[in-house]
Amino acid sequence: MIPLKKVVIVGGGTAGWMAAALMAKLARKGLQIELVESEEIGTIGVGEATIPAIKRFNHLLELDETDFIRSTQATFKLGVEFTDWGHVGNSYIHGFGKIGQDLGWLRMHQYWLKMRGTGQVSDVFADYSINTAAAYANRFMRARPDMKASPLNDIAYAYHFDAGLYALYLRKYSENLGVKRTEGKIVKVNQKPEDGFIESVRLESGAVIEGELFIDCSGMRALLIEQTMGAGFEDWAHWLPCDRAVAVPCSFMRSEAAQAPRIGSDAQSRLPQTGAPVLGKPEPLPYTRSIARSAGWQWRIPLQHRMGNGHVFSSRFMSEDEATAVLMANLPGEALAEPRVIRFKTGKRRKVWLKNVVAVGLAGGFMEPLESTSIQMVQSAILRLVALFPDSGFDPVQRDAFNDQSDFEYTRIRDFLIAHYKLTKRDDTPMWRHCRDMEIPEALAERLKLWSVAGRFFKDGEELFADESWIQVLIGQGLIPDGYDPFVDLRTDEEVVKYLNDISRVIGKCVAAMPSHEQYIEANCRAPRQGLTGG
Ligand code: FAD
Repeated sequence: MIPLKKVVIVGGGTAGWMAAALMAKLARKGLQIELVESEEIGTIGVGEATIPAIKRFNHLLELDETDFIRSTQATFKLGVEFTDWGHVGNSYIHGFGKIGQDLGWLRMHQYWLKMRGTGQVSDVFADYSINTAAAYANRFMRARPDMKASPLNDIAYAYHFDAGLYALYLRKYSENLGVKRTEGKIVKVNQKPEDGFIESVRLESGAVIEGELFIDCSGMRALLIEQTMGAGFEDWAHWLPCDRAVAVPCSFMRSEAAQAPRIGSDAQSRLPQTGAPVLGKPEPLPYTRSIARSAGWQWRIPLQHRMGNGHVFSSRFMSEDEATAVLMANLPGEALAEPRVIRFKTGKRRKVWLKNVVAVGLAGGFMEPLESTSIQMVQSAILRLVALFPDSGFDPVQRDAFNDQSDFEYTRIRDFLIAHYKLTKRDDTPMWRHCRDMEIPEALAERLKLWSVAGRFFKDGEELFADESWIQVLIGQGLIPDGYDPFVDLRTDEEVVKYLNDISRVIGKCVAAMPSHEQYIEANCRAPRQGLTGG
């Protein structure tokens, strides 16, 4: 067993620098890491909303959270608000973390399914989760681990950050740990004639960079995994129709909070009864917004110094000019750059590890940013690679395990995204009619069927999104089961009503005691003012 001596990372976007940082932190002594990036080609420049798993990544790097937040102009994120997805006028938040408190072996939503509509409990599902209730009230604080019996013990959060600043931050970190950065455009990839393994890449300058393991972080170009290895692509456009985005940053208008949350027409859409009024003072919201449009949806990602905006749309149903006009007409502030169109293909490489090439980030595949999963998938790919790190023998069993686990991760996330589209009741535009009527993967269809009978949901092994995520999205989109678990009836209605009202009351009190998101940032991690980057 001869250990590898040299890893080459191709690409210096979020994926490249995340890979460099974690490999450098976790690598044994003696492993050289070289990253090649081309300033002329640049990076994708978007990708600013995350999920709570990012905290594990930062923890592994031993980053100081406050320093990270200040350096990347980050804000806190408690979840994602979906507006006009189930139908026009509908709005709900997919909050991170727990929903209520289990009773016996049943999840809270089972009791709510029985009692909703009776007038004895809140029909607003958001009232039963600290994350969603706090988000609607525009409040935030980090969890209080010392308050064992309180919902404040369990506040799950992620971040919105400036992708360009994050890559810079990780670059500095990686270089401090000895990662060598080489600027230049790769113009040739050299393979060994005997087995097709890559032995080096040549730059425009003529310099040749040799390595034993190559991590392809070259973005959608997929320079090594596709252009060199010809991995092939599994196209999922028939399930996820969006294939373009137009992005533009805008000034942070302090009227944003006043615009949200919207009050929809159905039970799940109404304001929660947290006892904490939505603060009149406008400020950045502690959640990402996803607002459905006629042929796609628009994101709003509030950072400390600006708002990231984008319109993700399907070119089958809308032209780039129309999509740009829709975005520009719905900006909450003044545009700070020209809008930029990004074209993408939804799906994944048939294999993300071939010979001595492992694709990470956009080089491996892409699914639209509806649930902010791409950066998480970069992180999980690097951790998977570290867990299956090869020696110079490159035993294929490690490669096969890596490819199987990546397939599983991709397909489970894919199904979660498809559910958002499929469960619409909208019939006002051709795209929404297409989504409502489309065939869906069998495994997803089975899940929805099982849920529809009595609200049962079972997570599949290590899949990323927990039951709580699925339950909130299914209810939020309006897929209310026909019944509930019969074991609910083992308790009297009085018991169940008291149990549900206790949860919503305690959560309401906790939220009322929390500072606003803005106040929390001001007191703990306000970033210095600086120039603007990204979308
Ligand atoms: P890139 O940023 O494209 O970097 C590629 C690198 O390869 C660059 O440094 C480039 O210079 C280099 N390169 C390419 N070819 C060569 C060559 N020949 N020679 C030398 N260097 C080369 N993810 C989230 O988690 N949350 C989000 O909110 C989110 N929003 C998104 C919105 C949109 C519209 C899109 C398209 C993506 C979004 N993503 C999001 C995904 C996220 O942006 C990416 O996963 C992440 O930025 C990683 O990109 P990357 O590093 O793989 O590629």
